[in-house]
Amino acid sequence: MSVLVYIEHADGSVKKTSLEAVSYAKALSDKLGAGEVIAVALGSIAQEELAKAGHAGAAKVMHVNDEKLNAGIIQAHAEAVAQVYRKVGAGTLVLAKSSLGDAVAARLAVKLDAALVSNVVELPETGSGYKVKRSIYTGKAFAETSVNKDHKILAVKKNAVDLKTDGAAAAVETVALDINADNFATKIISTDKATGEVLLPEADIVVSGGRGMKGPENWGLIEDLAKELGAATGCSKPVSDIGWRPHHEHVGQTGVKVAPTLYIAVGISGAIQHLAGVNSSKCIVVINKDAEAPFFKAADYGIVGDAFEVLPKLTEAVKALK
Ligand code: FAD
Repeated sequence: MSVLVYIEHADGSVKKTSLEAVSYAKALSDKLGAGEVIAVALGSIAQEELAKAGHAGAAKVMHVNDEKLNAGIIQAHAEAVAQVYRKVGAGTLVLAKSSLGDAVAARLAVKLDAALVSNVVELPETGSGYKVKRSIYTGKAFAETSVNKDHKILAVKKNAVDLKTDGAAAAVETVALDINADNFATKIISTDKATGEVLLPEADIVVSGGRGMKGPENWGLIEDLAKELGAATGCSKPVSDIGWRPHHEHVGQTGVKVAPTLYIAVGISGAIQHLAGVNSSKCIVVINKDAEAPFFKAADYGIVGDAFEVLPKLTEAVKALK
């Protein structure tokens, strides 16, 4: 049985996390000796973007090119994916762990009578069922979950798998589905788009500031470094609560969970609730004037120093490298 992957995209750009899910599905399919990996993409999306699924390991992309699916209405996405899943006779669905992915996966588990495991970090042990390792307690521990249902849904954690980029171009098949109007009953009243050139949840590099930045008037220092690095900007919760920065930049347990290759934390103490949002980062650099700041314990590299002295020097150093 083939493995199906649900592809998310933002305004037609395929999300990196979904490509990671494709690479995961390819490795799983190879391990199972199963059929091909098929990706399903919904709504308006260019052929070049769909081709990325092939490079990540998909043999075929089923493209449901229906404009009504652009709004990201969860019920409609779940119905469309369920129909494609049945059509291709898949046995496992893989998708990225995300807000949209969570909402779609839960509905699919009911529609397909499937076992759903979320926050998956490794390929499962396979046999009569799957034994799946997943991250729990915001990355503080792992659990092993056995699933034996015929149909399985695995939601893969960001940055948990290596992205494959050397696959052949996938064949793209345009599919027309009959999705009942009831699935479009949700009306999107307004959309609040994040500002900035690089969007925080998807960013590969994040420069984040905390209360140690003293005030919004100093954020130019964070933005200058972010601009040189092609990074998104983030902040700690109190910073957005006070109104120094917009709420969509708030990183942590109660804010955005990021998983960049590089997270630079400036003037952030490293409270457990902040760490919960950044502990999937590949490399963490902390800049803090207090050598005892808890964030240093979670850091790969630390700079003990005053942000107002360190940031301009760092920005100049990055500029000089170009
Ligand atoms: P502070 O704790 O005030 O730390 C400021 C840091 O800046 C200090 O370490 C200081 O040494 C350093 N500093 C000061 N001046 C300089 C300078 N000139 N140069 C360099 N360093 C300097 N917080 C989040 O961030 N995200 C969340 O999602 C979140 N969720 C929460 C949920 C709950 C239920 C609760 C109770 C709290 C939550 N918090 C969250 C708040 C969290 O507990 C901390 O209070 C918060 O993260 C601290 O923010 P901060 O590090 O910016 O500020």
